[in-house]
Amino acid sequence: MQWEVVIGLEVHAQLATRSKIFSGASTAFGAEPNTQASAVDIALPGVLPVLNRAAVEHAIRFGLAVDAEINPKSVFARKNYFYPDLPKGYQISQMDEPVVKGGSLRLILPDGEKTIRLTRAHLEEDAGKSLHGDFHGMTGIDLNRAGTPLLEIVSEPDMRSAVEAVAYARTLHGLVTWLGICDGNMQEGSFRCDANVSVRPRGQAAFGTRCEIKNLNSFRFLERAIEFEVRRQIELIEDGGTVRQETRLYDADRDETRTMRTKEDAFDYRYFPDPDLLPLVIGQQWIEEVRASMPELPSAMHNRLVAQYGLPAYDASILTASRGMADYFEQAVAASGGAAKQCANWIMGDLSAALNRHGIDIGASPVTAAQLGQLVARVQDGTLSGKLGKTVFEALWQGEGEVDVIIDNRGLRQVSDTGAIAAIVDGVLQAHPAQVAEFRAGKEKMLGFLIGQAMKASKGKANPQQLNEMMLARLRAD
Ligand code: ADP
Ligand code: MG
Repeated sequence: MQWEVVIGLEVHAQLATRSKIFSGASTAFGAEPNTQASAVDIALPGVLPVLNRAAVEHAIRFGLAVDAEINPKSVFARKNYFYPDLPKGYQISQMDEPVVKGGSLRLILPDGEKTIRLTRAHLEEDAGKSLHGDFHGMTGIDLNRAGTPLLEIVSEPDMRSAVEAVAYARTLHGLVTWLGICDGNMQEGSFRCDANVSVRPRGQAAFGTRCEIKNLNSFRFLERAIEFEVRRQIELIEDGGTVRQETRLYDADRDETRTMRTKEDAFDYRYFPDPDLLPLVIGQQWIEEVRASMPELPSAMHNRLVAQYGLPAYDASILTASRGMADYFEQAVAASGGAAKQCANWIMGDLSAALNRHGIDIGASPVTAAQLGQLVARVQDGTLSGKLGKTVFEALWQGEGEVDVIIDNRGLRQVSDTGAIAAIVDGVLQAHPAQVAEFRAGKEKMLGFLIGQAMKASKGKANPQQLNEMMLARLRAD
């Protein structure tokens, strides 16, 4: 039996506002428990929520970026459930009328492009956190996170593999951070994914029963959780069982998912419009104001990088994965005198490797975009060989100063002077008469040895192409 995997993702993006969605308390992460919980957040009787305008603007930005409809009149609703970290006994969310409807996201996959449809994106508040530390045998509650604004972004069940789901999550993560509406910090929970997974026999029109895996806070966990869940469902069905609709948790230590609760349906939550909040009315003028403040979007920039700099689509998709990387690229190209492909190669190669190794973001790179551009320019104009370019890159990383200073201080200038190279070649030929004779007798691979000796004699600074030509000319001469 051939199985097809069906996946839809729900992403909770914490909106980067200074204060909460319905109160003035700070949203900063990491404060002492319960120091950032106002009377509204802890649900004291008689207090009223006041909607944060910035949170709405962030939602509009998102909607415009994915070509969605901005709902002219959306409604806040109460989602009722009991949990210790939810003092009101309900979460303020949106149900029938979300602020953002529809839209889509274009993914660049290794084997082409795919567009994933979005169902909706709605505003809601986050809950607090239970602390299972040492509280005299009891559980602690921290309400600092209660009331933090979230945008829940729901996709259609359009993904067909874990790889596509990860590509979707990464693209969405790139977009919300690019727009500046979410800091994207997955360790701190600013961007959390719930994966809905089902399988069906290939060719069957109806979807299979889905399970929802909650709170995946890294792309790797998202991928592994889906892969595990797909195997589990297929094995279950092939063994004659049926999949039960339920909510499951991913246990990273055991690399498996397990039942958290059987799935509740929307009506279990007794949603109803929150009488404390008026409908959210968004006029065309407000939308146009937000539109005017939008940056160039990653998809538009992707197309521009291909058209303007002649980059391969693959390079453009990597460079536009984050705003920081894209800006870095354009600054480096400008400083290099237009060597776009070379700058792209350095950024995707040596620079990304070094940033990964040290776990730092491109915005904090010790090698600035201007410096990288300078370095590329010096390789392009022949001052540096490609190999010594890497030496200069290391020196830049260590903070040894500007490119030309490093080249002079370390004496790295490539030797392109024909007289100097001729002298080195002649010296090597004299020192190794046996190998010269062998080459002339037809043992071509001696050339590599002789070039190696000459490169060594030049301390790696001889222009490789000139050295090669000169060596061959001399060997073939007499
Ligand atoms: P809920 O709010 O109860 O989780 P929704 O109807 O909002 O339910 O759907 C949540 C997510 O589940 C959406 O991303 C949707 O695309 C996805 N989904 C729905 N049906 C399936 C299915 N059969 N298999 C996989 N994903 C599904
Ligand atoms: Mg759900």
